[in-house]
Amino acid sequence: MSISEVLMYIILFIIGAILGSFACCQAWRIRLEQVGKKNPGKWSVCLSCGAKLKPSENIPIFSWLAQRGKCKHCGANIGKIEILSELSLGTTLVTFGTYFYPKFVAVIAGTNPLPLIMLSLSVLALITVITIMWILAIYDAKWQELPTKLLVALNICAVIYLILQFAGFFPSSGDIGIFFANLKNPALSLLGAIAILAGTYFLLYFFSREKLVGSGDWLIAMPIAIILGNWWLALVVLFLSNLFGSIYGVYQRVKKSKNQIPFGPFLILAFVIVYISQSWLVSLIAAL
Ligand SMILES: [Zn+2]
Repeated sequence: MSISEVLMYIILFIIGAILGSFACCQAWRIRLEQVGKKNPGKWSVCLSCGAKLKPSENIPIFSWLAQRGKCKHCGANIGKIEILSELSLGTTLVTFGTYFYPKFVAVIAGTNPLPLIMLSLSVLALITVITIMWILAIYDAKWQELPTKLLVALNICAVIYLILQFAGFFPSSGDIGIFFANLKNPALSLLGAIAILAGTYFLLYFFSREKLVGSGDWLIAMPIAIILGNWWLALVVLFLSNLFGSIYGVYQRVKKSKNQIPFGPFLILAFVIVYISQSWLVSLIAAL
């Protein structure tokens, strides 16, 4: 690995940690708005004592570690979700970096600037998607709810990502016939993915009357299906998210907790795992 590559991963981790911190703040802001409390404004404040946080208390990961997860002013616990969000989103962006690095190397070598622009825009769309997913996962884990406006934003970003992907199929000759001929199989696989993921979660919600999964879970499953665009990968996400959910369910039973299992975080975790290993999974499936 070259020094510039290592540097890129460090920068990606820092960006991820900042976005992870941002995701936590957004989750709280939306919550305060929903329960009708005053939004703390653009400054970060301690939710216990209301003290305004200095820049030194606002550095992702470091501030949490330096203050041992407690507010400097009142000693209230900041919570584990905050640092977990920063570390996990940082790690996720690094793994996305390893996935996209060879693709960037390939398009930079070409003379046509269009693939580079398309790839950069796809990465931006994906980072937006993943940040919104983090806000949703935090919200779901804390309050077992999924705010509608976030679900709408998530689905819009997923469709933008999809359009950027399909634009790559457009032939240089501009022949619409070739475009649609090339599009047939990916489009069918995409529809299969939507049916498997969004379909299953919608049916579970509909027939269990929200007892098994919540009303918003299929709207998290939908953008995941759209972004993966492959029915095999959708099946793997479905399997993994239910596996994680079951493990958590057993853990809750041991702890004798009666909380509803939030499926959102498990769907999102399964998505990240499948997204970064999709090339390997697709070749594995092809070899079957
Ligand atoms: Zn405080």
